[in-house]
Amino acid sequence: MSYVTEVYDNLQKKHPYEPEFLEAAKRILDSLEPIVSANEEVYRKNALLERFVEPERIITFRVPWTDDKGVNHVNLGYRVQFNSAIGPYKGGLRFHPSVTQSILKFLGMEQTLKNSLTGLPIGGGKGGSDFDPHGKSDAEVMRFCQSFMTELYKYVGKDVDVPAGDIGVGGREVGYLYGQYKRITNLYEGVLTGKGLTFGGSLARTEATGYGLVYITNEMVKAAGKDLAGKTVVVSGSGNVAQYAIQKAHELGAKVVTCSDSNGYVYDPNGINFDVLCQIKQVERGRIKEYAKRVPGSEYHDGEKPWGVKCDIALPCATQNEINGADARKLLDNGCWCVAEGANMPSDADAIDAYLAAKILYMPAKAANAGGVAVSALEMSQNSERLSWSFEEVDKMLHNIMVNIYNNVATAAKKYGYEGNFVVGANIAGFEKVANAMLGQGVV
Ligand code: NDP
Repeated sequence: MSYVTEVYDNLQKKHPYEPEFLEAAKRILDSLEPIVSANEEVYRKNALLERFVEPERIITFRVPWTDDKGVNHVNLGYRVQFNSAIGPYKGGLRFHPSVTQSILKFLGMEQTLKNSLTGLPIGGGKGGSDFDPHGKSDAEVMRFCQSFMTELYKYVGKDVDVPAGDIGVGGREVGYLYGQYKRITNLYEGVLTGKGLTFGGSLARTEATGYGLVYITNEMVKAAGKDLAGKTVVVSGSGNVAQYAIQKAHELGAKVVTCSDSNGYVYDPNGINFDVLCQIKQVERGRIKEYAKRVPGSEYHDGEKPWGVKCDIALPCATQNEINGADARKLLDNGCWCVAEGANMPSDADAIDAYLAAKILYMPAKAANAGGVAVSALEMSQNSERLSWSFEEVDKMLHNIMVNIYNNVATAAKKYGYEGNFVVGANIAGFEKVANAMLGQGVV
C-alpha cells in the first residue's frame, strides 16, 4: 500500500464523521503522490504526512449572546490552527449556519497550501461560528462579535494567529472583533486583517483578489505564447472579486462580456462598463438586471449562468460549484481555452476533469485567488512596521507575488512530470515549502 493511501485510510478511521475534510484530504493527498513517492523514505521516517493532515490545534468554545428582545442564545465558535511551519496561523473567520469542524478543517488544510504559495511567511488556519448574521441588527452582530472575541482573544495575536474575514464576516464584523480584542488586551496590534483604512487596513486589499486573478491569468496566457489583449472574457459574479477582475482585464486590453448575480447574467458585446457596474453593485446595492436597462446593446438572461457565451477565457468569480461538467463542456465547445478561478472551488470535480482532459490552461483557486490573502499578509507587515504603504507599492508587490506563484506552480508541475497540470503543480508547490519547513523543525 502506498504511503499516501496508508495515511488516508488511517485518517478515515480517525475522523469518520468529517466527510468534507476527508474528501479534501483525499484530493490533496492524491495530487501529492509524485512528490511523496520521490521523498517517501524521509517523509515516512519523520511521520510527515501523518502530521500534515492533522491540525496542530482546534479550539472550540461556546458563544453566548443576547438578542435585541433580551432572549439569550448560544452558538458554537471554532478556531482551527492547522499549520504554523512557515508562519503564524492565518485564515478567515466564517459566520454561517453550515459551519462545522469538518468544514473548517478542510478549509484550514487548503489555506495552509494557498498561504504557502504566496511565498510570504504565513501558516494556515480557519475559524468561525454557526451564527447566521442575516436578519440580525447591527447591535446583535456587535454583541455576538464581542462575545466571540472574549473567548478567541486567548488564542490569537499578531505573531500567533491572525484571522481575517470570510463568508458572513466583512469590514463591520472585523471592526467589532478588533475593538473587543483591543479592549480586552490593551494592545493595538495587527491581530486581524481586512481592517478599516483608519485603523490599520491596507490600501489595495479591496482590489487584491480580482487584480491578482488577472495578473496570474496574464502570466499563464503569456507563457502559452498568447496575449490577453483582444481576448474575450466571460466573468461570473458581480461582487468584490468580479468587479476588480473586470477592471484589470480591461486595463490589460481584454474584453469582458458578461457578469452575473444569483438571479441571472448580463451580456454586453461592447465590454462590461465598470462604472455602471459599480454604481449598481457598490452604491445602489441593486440587482445585475439593472445593467441591461441602463446600457444600450446589453442583454439580461434571467435564471441563467454565462457559460454558454463564446469566449477565450472564463473567470468564475461568484461561488462554489458554479461550473459543473455540462457547463465546462459548453465552455470547451465554444472555444474557451483558459479558465482561472477567482471564487473558491467554483468548478466541480467533473468540470476539472473536463479541463484537464481537454488540456486547456486551468489555474485552480488555490493559486489564482491567492492575491487576497497575499495582501492581507502585506497588511500584517505594514502593521508591524507601523507604516502604511501607497496603493502603487502594494499593487506592485501583489503583481510580483502573482508572477512568482505562476512560476512556482508551473515549475513544480514540470519537475514532477505533470507539465501544464496546475492542479498538481499548485498542491505540490504549496506543500513542498511547508514539508521542508516541517522537516527542518523536527517532529513537533
Ligand atoms: P461577494 O459577496 O462580493 O460577491 C459574490 C457574487 O457572487 C455576487 O455577485 C453574488 O450574487 C454571486 N453569487 C453568490 N451566490 C451565487 C450563486 N449561487 N449563483 C450565482 N451567483 C452567485 O463575494 P466576493 O466577490 O468577495 O467572493 C466571491 C468568491 O470569491 C467567493 O467564493 C469567495 O470565497 C472567493 N474569494 C474572495 C476573496 C476576497 O478577497 N473577496 C478572496 C478569495 C476568495 P448575489 O448578489 O445575487 O448573491
